[in-house]
Amino acid sequence: MLLRTITSPLTAGSRAHPRSPVATRRLLHALAPRVVVLGSGWAGFEILRDLDKRRYDVTVVSPRNYFVFTPLLASTSVGTLEFRCITEPVRSRGDNFKFYEATADRIDLDNRAVLCSSTVEGVPGQFAIPYDKLVVTVGARSNTFDIPGVREHAFFLKDVPDARRIRQRVLDCFEWASQPNVSPAEQSRILHFAVVGGGPTGVEFAAELSDFVRDDLRRVYPHLMDRVTLTVYDVAPTLLGTFDRNLAAYADARFRRQGIRVRTRTAIAGVTARELILADQRREPYGLLVWATGLTATPLVTSLGDRAAHDPRSGRILCDDRLRVLGPDRRTPLPDVFALGDCATLTNHGLPATAQVAKQQGIYLSRVLNRLGRATDWTVDDERPFTYRHLGSMAYLGGWKAIVDLQKPGAPASASKRTTGGNGLRLADYIGEGRLAWLFWRTSYFTMSVSPKNKILIPVYWFLTWVFGRDISRF
Ligand SMILES: Cc1cc2nc3c(=O)[nH]c(=O)nc-3n(C[C@H](O)[C@H](O)[C@H](O)COP(=O)(O)OP(=O)(O)OC[C@H]3O[C@@H](n4cnc5c(N)ncnc54)[C@H](O)[C@@H]3O)c2cc1C
Repeated sequence: MLLRTITSPLTAGSRAHPRSPVATRRLLHALAPRVVVLGSGWAGFEILRDLDKRRYDVTVVSPRNYFVFTPLLASTSVGTLEFRCITEPVRSRGDNFKFYEATADRIDLDNRAVLCSSTVEGVPGQFAIPYDKLVVTVGARSNTFDIPGVREHAFFLKDVPDARRIRQRVLDCFEWASQPNVSPAEQSRILHFAVVGGGPTGVEFAAELSDFVRDDLRRVYPHLMDRVTLTVYDVAPTLLGTFDRNLAAYADARFRRQGIRVRTRTAIAGVTARELILADQRREPYGLLVWATGLTATPLVTSLGDRAAHDPRSGRILCDDRLRVLGPDRRTPLPDVFALGDCATLTNHGLPATAQVAKQQGIYLSRVLNRLGRATDWTVDDERPFTYRHLGSMAYLGGWKAIVDLQKPGAPASASKRTTGGNGLRLADYIGEGRLAWLFWRTSYFTMSVSPKNKILIPVYWFLTWVFGRDISRF
């Protein structure tokens, strides 16, 4: 195996004059502690933005060279938005850090290095990147609960290539069903779109797909509309179990009104290339299966084994309240290793796997590291623990309707004016559900999008979709 160690640019030689400001800056930079950030998602991208590159020699390792604005990923999977509206290149953050398009395979805690393999086609071998501080933000994988056939046959919705595959498959299904030699039974099978998982990701994808069928595909495939079925399955008693009860009930009613079948309290026992096998052994043929049932640890997180503490249920890395990875005794932090976002959880309280948490943790850890870089007599223990501020949850339901839940997760069911007669003026009472909630949903995500380019592209594509419909070309 070819194994190289990445060295600092200064040690590799420089053409700048030894006393020029550029050379001095490079020298200081080469002496700066090396921070290696694994991942370019919500947490990693935030760290990259906020970390003081004058004090740290920063390296980012990620198998993809972009950040994805995941809340709008479902919109791209049916063409409401184009893929480039929701991505941002990692290198757009400047030229004062290093970026390697690679997967971190293993963390060598003893030698303080990360072993990586390039994901650029044709680049051979592994390389090692030494670190002084390591920040693990590798996210999580879709959880299949080891149900047979899911990995092989289902589509997932975690990244842009997933959304691209789904979009292509939806259009494939309609073209397949349009062929002259396809029987009506086969048309019904191929046009059954099954979504497993009634959380926000599954619900938003079903809503977007329902819009796509109603607004665009109905015009071009009118003869197939009687054959189209869209079903959301979940083992839980309701959709959107983490939302306020009244809002979840609204979502359920809305879906049924839109003709989306809701199959709650339904467990999936297996999947074949053409059928879902339910726990009661009934079989439901499908053309597209999208799997959105929660998260599990990535191979890198699993590879830490018993060198780090893990949450026994989710497999996430266990951290203390300052985001330091804990050792096997679940109390002592490993030196200079931090984890945040979906790959980690805290000992004192479990946090939801959301972009909100990942972003807030990224802001917190950058502040900690920047202070650490500035002051010699300051330690991480001197910083206040991380606290999460919940800003609310939203879900798009299709037909320009959404729900917005501004309560903390786990709070009792809403005491909104609609259900109790009112207990003061709360924003949630007025934008909780429907068209106003949808406006709030769109405005929030437009505001949160990360670059000026996307702030222009997103409304432009919303407008184009509204005027001309979604593009149904397949390539
Ligand atoms: C469709 C969808 C919709 C969502 N909607 C919302 C929403 O509306 N609101 C909300 O708050 N949250 C939402 N989420 C959840 C949110 O996206 C995640 O909680 C968030 O992305 C977690 O951030 P992260 O940085 O921990 O991980 P991610 O954003 O998943 O990033 C992980 C990064 O690590 C990289 N990586 C993986 N393995 C390795 C490795 N071995 N070495 C190096 N790099 C690696 C990945 O390529 C990626 O760049 C949504 C998620 C999805 C999938």
